[in-house]
Amino acid sequence: MPIEMYNRVDGHVLDHLRGIVGEGSVLVDPEDIEPYAHDEVVGFRSEPEVVVRATSAEQVSEILKLAQRARVPVTPRGAGYGLSGGAVPVCGGIVLSLEKMNRILEIDEENLMATVEPGVITGDLHRAVEDLGLFYPPDPASLDSCTIGGNVAEGAGGPRAVKYGVTKDYVCGLEAVLPSGEIIECGGKLVKNVTGYSLIQLLIGSEGTLAVVTKIILRLLPLPKVQVDLLVPYDDFQAAADTVSDIIAHRIVPTTIEFMERDCILAVERLLQKEVPHDDAEAQLLIQLDGNRQDAVEADMELVGELCLRHGARDVLVAKDLRTRERLWEARRMIIDALNNESPINHMEDVVVPRASLPSLLAGIKDTATRHSARIVCFGHAGDGNVHVNVLQDAIPNEQWPELVRSAREEIYHLTLSLGGTITAEHGIGAARREYLPLALDQAQIDLMRRIKEVFDPNHILNPAKIFP
Ligand SMILES: Cc1cc2nc3c(=O)[nH]c(=O)nc-3n(C[C@H](O)[C@H](O)[C@H](O)COP(=O)(O)OP(=O)(O)OC[C@H]3O[C@@H](n4cnc5c(N)ncnc54)[C@H](O)[C@@H]3O)c2cc1C
Repeated sequence: MPIEMYNRVDGHVLDHLRGIVGEGSVLVDPEDIEPYAHDEVVGFRSEPEVVVRATSAEQVSEILKLAQRARVPVTPRGAGYGLSGGAVPVCGGIVLSLEKMNRILEIDEENLMATVEPGVITGDLHRAVEDLGLFYPPDPASLDSCTIGGNVAEGAGGPRAVKYGVTKDYVCGLEAVLPSGEIIECGGKLVKNVTGYSLIQLLIGSEGTLAVVTKIILRLLPLPKVQVDLLVPYDDFQAAADTVSDIIAHRIVPTTIEFMERDCILAVERLLQKEVPHDDAEAQLLIQLDGNRQDAVEADMELVGELCLRHGARDVLVAKDLRTRERLWEARRMIIDALNNESPINHMEDVVVPRASLPSLLAGIKDTATRHSARIVCFGHAGDGNVHVNVLQDAIPNEQWPELVRSAREEIYHLTLSLGGTITAEHGIGAARREYLPLALDQAQIDLMRRIKEVFDPNHILNPAKIFP
């Protein structure tokens, strides 16, 4: 929908919004709305005309009905920690923030289910269920900032996906508000449910373009009793990549296998002003194993350690106590901030290939870096074949930067697709990748998706100019 098809937010709409959510939850001052003009995509921003902070599904429903009548676009927003521009209001209008809907409504220990509002911070849910000996596995590295609603809308993953899967594997029920304002309840505290099409799975990963999620029912697991982390440094980048596919080929499924190149580690050290062990290694793997029996976890640990050494690892450092493990993970979770600190202008991709093709992907990305004389740094969820590729501007002149990014990302996308992969594993298409959708999907699929969007949102009120080119 062209931007001129929408109306501006006028005084009449503002009055109505204040009537729905109250004066204090309608933000219009430039400095109040500035934080809602961007997410975590570097250099991408667009100002909303107004930010509205809802506290109930009924309020969300009234806001959407008003937006329909006034033909004003609405962009749902969790914490704004996305990496695809999905929460950025590119057509202006209303940003509908779910941040105040942040209650954990119930942790049902009998059914092993949690019911939460969308604005709950993912890490807060982790801590709440872990206090009861329960476990919610999806763990995006942004977990202390992002929301469960944002995780559902993006289909978020995280390091533990290797063993435990991603957000979509845990959502059993959703309450959602359609663009018409109608409130629907899908699923429930049900482990099995094949009643009709799965609207739950359709809404997961729909990036806020089909409905606004207002309540989520999540499946929980018992908390594993034993966890151990291994930090494995390598002098050869390719040997680290080869180890990953070998571990999987040996029928061991670790909880995580994270990969970090030396430039990531050095950037974290500079940001945190703390030393990371083996910071001169060309690459490191951070491998976590978990289970309920000490002996079984230790047997896997021995085998994994042996495989790493067989592939030329310098050492295998074992972290069993919580403090040491936390230190290792702090470094891993800070990589994006550290790279932003290193080169404030940079470009990040989120490609994924079948796990066994990881070595070819990483080797091809190195070739791209050499061809463009650019610093391209990789880290990510190697155990899932998911690599975050960061092109750093460093000293590249501003006028050469856009063309370099375009050319490097096209090369990386073509390589990924040729290996049977796709252009985004967990960050989503949003605004940042939409022009590349036709590279990854055939026209028949894109047409079908567009028709689904039409059915939910014929007036294109909800999160316009996202996903589709
Ligand atoms: C340092 C860092 C590390 C990260 N690590 C990971 C990682 O390991 N794995 C991973 O998957 N992602 C990761 N991300 C990306 C990001 O954290 C996730 O995409 C997360 O799910 C975004 O949640 P949010 O609450 O910030 O959503 P937002 O950025 O606010 O919104 C994201 C999208 O969801 C929509 N949305 C938000 N809430 C709702 C709702 N209630 N109903 C409907 N639509 C909604 C928005 O419109 C937007 O399209 C990382 C980001 C950063 C900055």
